[in-house]
Amino acid sequence: MEKNSMKTQPVELLAALKSYLFLAPYNLTLYYRENGAVDSFGDGFKSCGAIIQDQLSNDMCHHFFEKNIKADLKTKKTTVYRYSGGFLSFVVPFDISDTSFCLIGNGVRDKSIDLWQLETLARGEKVDGFSLLNQLEKLPVTTVQEMEEVAEQIQKMLPSLQVDRFYKSLFDKTMRQLSTIVGILEQLDKVATIEETISLSSEMLGFLFNFPKIAIALRDEDGKAFSMAGTWGLPEKLGSIPEENIAVLVSPDKVKKTVRFGKELRGLFPGLKADRVTCFPLESEGQLFGVIALFDSELQTVDLLLIELVASKVAAKLMQLKREAEHLQVSLLTNKLMSLTNILLFAESKEELYKIILEIAADLLSACQGSIMLIDKKGENLHIVFSMGMSLQVAQCMTVKVGKGIAGKVAKTGTPLLVNDVEKDSRVGMKNRPRFKSKSLICIPLKLKDKIIGVLNLSDKENLGAFTEADMNLLTSFANLASLMIERTLVLEQSSMFEKLSVTDPLTGLYNRRFLKNRLEEELNRSVRHGLNLTFLFIDLDYFKIYNDFCGHLAGDEALKKTADIIKASLRDMDIVARYGGEEFCAILPGTSKKESIVVAERIRVGIEKEIFPEEESLPLGKLTASLGIASFPEDGHTFTSLVHAADVALYEAKANGRNQIIAAYPSMPNDSKSGLHNNQ
Ligand code: GH3
Ligand code: MG
Ligand code: MG
Repeated sequence: MEKNSMKTQPVELLAALKSYLFLAPYNLTLYYRENGAVDSFGDGFKSCGAIIQDQLSNDMCHHFFEKNIKADLKTKKTTVYRYSGGFLSFVVPFDISDTSFCLIGNGVRDKSIDLWQLETLARGEKVDGFSLLNQLEKLPVTTVQEMEEVAEQIQKMLPSLQVDRFYKSLFDKTMRQLSTIVGILEQLDKVATIEETISLSSEMLGFLFNFPKIAIALRDEDGKAFSMAGTWGLPEKLGSIPEENIAVLVSPDKVKKTVRFGKELRGLFPGLKADRVTCFPLESEGQLFGVIALFDSELQTVDLLLIELVASKVAAKLMQLKREAEHLQVSLLTNKLMSLTNILLFAESKEELYKIILEIAADLLSACQGSIMLIDKKGENLHIVFSMGMSLQVAQCMTVKVGKGIAGKVAKTGTPLLVNDVEKDSRVGMKNRPRFKSKSLICIPLKLKDKIIGVLNLSDKENLGAFTEADMNLLTSFANLASLMIERTLVLEQSSMFEKLSVTDPLTGLYNRRFLKNRLEEELNRSVRHGLNLTFLFIDLDYFKIYNDFCGHLAGDEALKKTADIIKASLRDMDIVARYGGEEFCAILPGTSKKESIVVAERIRVGIEKEIFPEEESLPLGKLTASLGIASFPEDGHTFTSLVHAADVALYEAKANGRNQIIAAYPSMPNDSKSGLHNNQ
């Protein structure tokens, strides 16, 4: 027998023997002795080949050979047996290297069936004699002499067995498998989803190696369990293994070894019927993605290597898909953040901003309920400013104390909270409220650096699943941006509110234009009610742009302040003075007719003209002056707009007439009049 450095594997040896045509009619069983004991696996009739499919033959062999096998292995004598009913068997013991083997061929019968012995046998076995006869008749027919010749031929062929046919056929088969695998792996490269990867690799294993049952366990999205799915010859849903139990399939003593599908595994996968299992972990860069499990398969050493190759490629592919998915997630987030920033620019109010933020957050995590809560100025309570899945009116009435409840705690600590099950989580420990469909929720602080401004709550994930760590990370980075936007909008709103509230112009201390409009409307109403006159004055400095350019903006500001003082000093307390804009002022003189107002206007004009302004000599008129337009109620208008317009037209005419003068509106004026009422030049 050829010395071989590689240990001869019984499975491979049997496969080689079975490949001989002259042994085709026989059921072949190979016994072997290892470490002093006759080794075996499987149930019932223990045979490393487990090739006897026929129940009757199986039982008979079991009876007969269990008794004699040890003796045959010892004597090394080739024998042909004829026993009860006419069954024939040969026993060929032989050694390869240090291992003792014994090949048993059976599953055939003698030409003559010994009916008498068969009847005894049937009785002893408590089986029906007719069915026994029926089965016996189906077996191939041979003679003792033929069997002896076959046994002899085996003896002769044994020395050349390995070099001759065994390894050659193995080599050919392996090469065929390898080239097919290479082709399929090329296809695998192009595959774009996990599902396709799994189905392609299962088909490859099923077709190529003829494995009867294949299942693949894959890590669930939350990473805490592995779901086992039949992919070849098994039901699709087989069950799930928690991560801490995955060692049942991938412990070093089980990986790549065929082991019994024992109690422990049966317990985990009750829907799976099998005797043995061989497992290959799907591992890449130290990450375990899952396990390929082959059930009731006979694997040769070389098969193990090929499947290992397939498993490593599949794992690498899964890693690549995972990376791509992560990348996609990041770019999706970036896109969403970009779109939020864009939408924000168009958000017209803080309410709209809250709505957008919540909608995007809910969309990111596939949540159906949620709310944004902000901390009040005192830092004591959280108020819902926007909600989804419950009425906003109801929500706005609810307040939560900072430090109390889930949201209150998050607002106090600034640490996000992910709860899988509100009823089981010891940090929460409360009954699920009826308005929530699922028991998982997520609460993220809204922070600006270290300042906590509120919280973002999401619940009721689609399909009622639990939120994951990945969800929490995603929402946290989004919440940072959201906080910034909320703060920005609040500041903007506040400043525009202050602006609205302010009534005075900061430079001159006069009322501003917004206040003027309100006051003029009030005064007009009063004048209408009481049948009083009212006059509106427009005062505009002449050539002020030139003054500014010559003397500088600061000197310009000083001149504006002085002008304001002159105007105020020229009026009564009940009159209202405002800065209309730039170097334009106006005054409301309640109860004053146009005629009466001309005196006042003249006082202002002269006051400005006489006032000494630094470097005013450089102006076209040699001094800083003002032009005035006058319009009165009721004759020139009844509303704010019409009075201002009439005064403006008059002022324009004063400018056109050479400046430093007063023009009062008169009935035909807005259209074409040029007549000056008062010119002081
Ligand atoms: P006109 O005689 O036709 O009224 O000519 P003008 O130069 O006075 O009018 P124009 O409207 O062309 O220019 C007004 C100038 O007033 C422009 C700007 O330099 C100046 N001005 C407006 N507001 C302020 C302000 O708050 N401070 C200062 N220093 N200058 C101002
Ligand atoms: Mg002007
Ligand atoms: Mg001017």
